[in-house]
Amino acid sequence: MALSEPWIEHFIVGPLQMRCSVVTDRQSGDTIIIDGGDEPRRIIDWIDGFQGPGPNWTTGPENAAAAGEQNLPERTVVALVNTHAHFDHSGFIPELQAHYQVDWYLHPDDDFLQTLAQASGRRYGLTLPEPAVADHAFKSGETYAFGSIELKILHTPGHTLGGCCLLLSVSDGPDHVFVGDTLFAGSVGRTDIANSGGDFDLLAHSIHTQLWPLDEATVVHPGHGPLTTIGHERRTNPFVGDSAGAGGTYGFGKYA
Ligand SMILES: [Zn+2]
Ligand SMILES: [Zn+2]
Repeated sequence: MALSEPWIEHFIVGPLQMRCSVVTDRQSGDTIIIDGGDEPRRIIDWIDGFQGPGPNWTTGPENAAAAGEQNLPERTVVALVNTHAHFDHSGFIPELQAHYQVDWYLHPDDDFLQTLAQASGRRYGLTLPEPAVADHAFKSGETYAFGSIELKILHTPGHTLGGCCLLLSVSDGPDHVFVGDTLFAGSVGRTDIANSGGDFDLLAHSIHTQLWPLDEATVVHPGHGPLTTIGHERRTNPFVGDSAGAGGTYGFGKYA
C-alpha cells in the first residue's frame, strides 16, 4: 500500500557526509532507517525522543519544537535497510541493531564488500564495530513490507555489485526513491572503488532500465549531496541523462 504523506528525515553523518534517511508512517508510527552509516547516537536520540542535534536537509522539522507540532505518533523502528555496503552507509548498523533489536536488509551481492567495512573505515581514521551481517537478502523487483512501510527493491549494480535503489510509493504526493551512490544530482557514483565491482557501463544500464522508467516527479534521495528528481536527472545529467553519450556510447542502444 502506498503511504500517505510519509515523514522523511535526513541525517548527514560521518566524515563522508553520507545521507541517512529515516522514514516514518505518520498513521502507525512505524519507522525504518535507510543507511545507518555513522552517528548512531544522534539518530537514536532523535527518533526515540526528539533529543540532540537531530536531522538536517530534511523535509521535516529542523528542531524538536517543530517536530512536536507535527503530532507524530510514538515511533517504532521496525527495520534497518541499506542501499549498499560501503562503510559510510553501513559502518554503524551494529549499534543501531543493538539498540532497536530489528533485522537488517541488504542485497546479497554486497555481502563480501560488507566484510571489509572495518578495514575501509580505518583508511579514513574511523574505528568501526565488527561489520554487521545482513539478516535478510533483498531480491530485485520484490516489494518488502516493514510494518506498514513498503519498499520496492530495484537492483542497480554498477557502483557496487549489490547496490539497490529503494522505491517508496506515496498515495498523495510524489514517490520517493533512495538511491545510495547510484545516482547524484548532476553526477553518478564512482566506479573505481576497490573490491566493489564498479563498472560505468553497468551503472548506466542500471539507471536507464531501473530509474528512468519511474515517474519523473519521483524525488531522488542520493547518498551524498542535494536531492533531485528523476525527471530533472533524465533531462540534464551529463553522465546518464538522455543527451549523454550522444552517438550511442552510453545510450540505450548499447543494451537493446
Ligand atoms: Zn558507495
Ligand atoms: Zn557513499
